[in-house]
Formats: sequence, C-alpha cells, structure tokens
Amino acid sequence: MARKFFVGGNWKCNGTTEEVKKIVTTLNEAEVPSEDAVEVVVSPPFVFLTLVKSLLRSDFHVAAQNCWVRKGGAFTGEISAGMLVNLGIPWVIIGHSERRALLNESNEFVGDKVMYALSQGLKVIACIGETLEQRESGSTMAVVAAQTKAIADKVTSWGNVVLAYEPVWAIGTGKVATPAQAQEVHCELRKWLHENVGAEIATSTRIIYGGSVNGANCKELAAQPDVDGFLVGGASLKPEFVDIIKSAT
Ligand code: PGA
Repeated sequence: MARKFFVGGNWKCNGTTEEVKKIVTTLNEAEVPSEDAVEVVVSPPFVFLTLVKSLLRSDFHVAAQNCWVRKGGAFTGEISAGMLVNLGIPWVIIGHSERRALLNESNEFVGDKVMYALSQGLKVIACIGETLEQRESGSTMAVVAAQTKAIADKVTSWGNVVLAYEPVWAIGTGKVATPAQAQEVHCELRKWLHENVGAEIATSTRIIYGGSVNGANCKELAAQPDVDGFLVGGASLKPEFVDIIKSAT
C-alpha cells in the first residue's frame, strides 16, 4: 500500500497572534502538491489552535503539541484529548523529545497518552529518538525499539498513527541526520513493526523524520525509501516550509 507523504510543522512554543497570521497567510498562498500526494499538518501552541484552524486553507490540517494522559478534570494547566476533539482538532503530537527530556515523560506515560488520544478519536504523531550519547554508545536501535514498543503496546488503530523518528542530537541543532542515517533507522523501525506488530501495518505505517530538516536538505532525505515525510521545527516557521512540503513529489 502506498504511504502518503506527510509533512508536519511543529511550531513549538513560538509566535504572537500577528506572527501566526503571517505564517498562515504564507501557507494559504503557497502552491503545493495536492492533498492526494501530501498530507500537511501544522501544530501551533494551544492558544492559537482555534485561530489557525479558522484561517488555514482546508487542505491543510491542525495538530496540538500535546494532550493530557486521560479524561479531563482536576488537572490544572492540562488540555484533554476530548477538548481537542471538541474544537475540531484532528491531530496531536505525543512524546516529543523536549517533553520526554524536560518534563520527564516516560515511555509508558507516552504510550498511555497515545492510547487515550486514539480512544477519543484523535490521530497521533508519536515521537521517538535517541540522544547523542545513546547513538555513540551503539544503543540507537535498542532505545527507539523500546520507545516504539511502549507505543505499539497501546495502539489500537495504526491507521491513525504516524511514527516520527527524531534523533535528539538533530533537533534544533542544525545537525541533520544524513539520508543514510535516517534511512537506516527507518528501515530498522519498519522491520521492528513487521516482526512485532504485523506485515501489513509495517508496510502502511508512515515513518517520518524530524531534526533540522530544512528547504535545502529535505529533497535528499525524502528520496529515501523508508522516509515517508517530515516533522519540522524551526523551518516550519519560515517560508521554506513550503519547499519542504514540495519535496513530497
Ligand atoms: P527542528 O525540530 O526542525 O527545529 O530540529 C524538529 C522537532 O523538534 O520536531
């Protein structure tokens, strides 16, 4: 089954109302491949979700950057999956390395969040990736396999999951993985899915790459057989995000 190219823009904790409107205008005016060729999802901070959803072209979609692990209630400062669904937000990013590192989100917690978000009808961009220390000690695959297992154990509907491989050492550093490095891990992840989840799911699940993707390096990465798209941070705030979307074709 053909995997539709997926480009996500993770705006992280950036933007004012004016800046957000400007980014959306750039996206709305861009000439990009059709929705049949590429799925585009942008992820503004919570406070701008409704604004972006109301202004954004209808062939692009919106994602939250996080959600609470279970039903809402007495959890000050949290946003529940149900609230996102209520706002008409279709996607959520879960397990981003910044949250894993800075907020101590464990593999199990990430898996539980994925499960609850899916149960509420959200589609999930689930993030995994090794640190530089882990790569240098040769444990990349063990680390990403453990992260993937914690997610896979909880996934009920693989059709609603995109797996984002984002090596921590490449995020926000300008040190992008080489196409060969990305392909190697994506291929291993697909093998892992084949062996541990099933052949069909391994073939159909999109595995996207994130970490210092920009307009200049996206084409070569996109050409790798197991790279099915990108999760883009810094460059998703800039006009070059359009070039990254275009790397789909
Ligand atoms: P970056 O971030 O593109 O700025 O490296 C990617 C991400 O964190 O998703």
